[in-house]
Amino acid sequence: MTAARWDDPEALAAAVVEGAGTGVGRSTMSRAITLLESSRPDHRAAGKRLSALLAPHTGGAVRLGISGAPGAGKSTLIESLGTLLTAAGHRVGVLAVDPTSSRTGGSVLGDKTRMPKLAADPLAYIRPSPTAGTLGGVARATAQAIGVLEAAGYGVIIVETVGVGQSETTVATLVDTFALLALSRTGDQLQGLKKGILELADVVAVNKSDGSHIAEAGATARELTGALRLVRGKNGWVPPVLPCSGLTGSGLDELWATVGRHRQFLGPAGLSEKRSAQAVEFTWALVRDELEQRLRRSPGIGRIRSDVLQSVADKQLSPAAAADELLAAFDATGLFHT
Ligand code: GDP
Repeated sequence: MTAARWDDPEALAAAVVEGAGTGVGRSTMSRAITLLESSRPDHRAAGKRLSALLAPHTGGAVRLGISGAPGAGKSTLIESLGTLLTAAGHRVGVLAVDPTSSRTGGSVLGDKTRMPKLAADPLAYIRPSPTAGTLGGVARATAQAIGVLEAAGYGVIIVETVGVGQSETTVATLVDTFALLALSRTGDQLQGLKKGILELADVVAVNKSDGSHIAEAGATARELTGALRLVRGKNGWVPPVLPCSGLTGSGLDELWATVGRHRQFLGPAGLSEKRSAQAVEFTWALVRDELEQRLRRSPGIGRIRSDVLQSVADKQLSPAAAADELLAAFDATGLFHT
């Protein structure tokens, strides 16, 4: 098949859906996702059309989020887990959500060089984080990329994110099961794990449980298990805490089995309900992000911003009065300028 033009939604959708059984070429996958990542207005329209065409073919994958601090071992673990899954015949897609990557120029999540084995695996497709600037922009593109992968027949989609800031909360609204990679350290470091993150996790993997760290990892796992009981209460799903090692592969079978148990716990109706609730939550997240962009770009606010903020800094104006002034300026012009 000749490659579909990257801005032709009909041809791209056909290439993705028709290839789902036999394997969609990487260039087609990349073209489709590139279109969905573009913020150019004409591309946005074509991207919407592509998403709409693919929508009936989406929803079939196991969507797994993996988060952890830089250096927690995410790419090593995803490489090992992904390879285990492709060996079992699954098609595995890896996406990344890292709104800071464009700014810091730091390690780009999902970078193919961080997962060389998986990147060369014909059953895997790895896509680095879009550099769309805002978290909302990145998340919007990622949600649509999940649709492309599902329509293309990928049975497992791993969404990788770094354990800082809002991106974890956003990724948790995109996946069925959210796994947190913790490290085997006790005491202070454990308390440093934010309660909010423990509330998001469906499974906690105490990574790098190998070599001389095994005993320490066991102790951390026990401590975390206790902490999770407190956070999550007695009813419902209490997130299991599993020692594992992305490096040696130990515990990864159990991690994957736990993802399966979590799905069983949810059941088809529960999963469908969860995805519906996530879709609603995600909608509002996108609206909030877009509103923030519009606030930033509002000519009315632009005209008075520095004066008003200076007055607040000089204690001439209260924050409440300043907020009223800024919002009034937005209302006066913001509706007409996007
Ligand atoms: P990421 O930033 O979370 O993606 O972390 P990486 O996967 O890049 O790993 C960071 C460092 O930890 C690298 O030097 C890895 O070799 C090392 N590492 C990763 N996983 C393991 C593991 O399971 N055990 C041990 N001992 N080291 C690991």
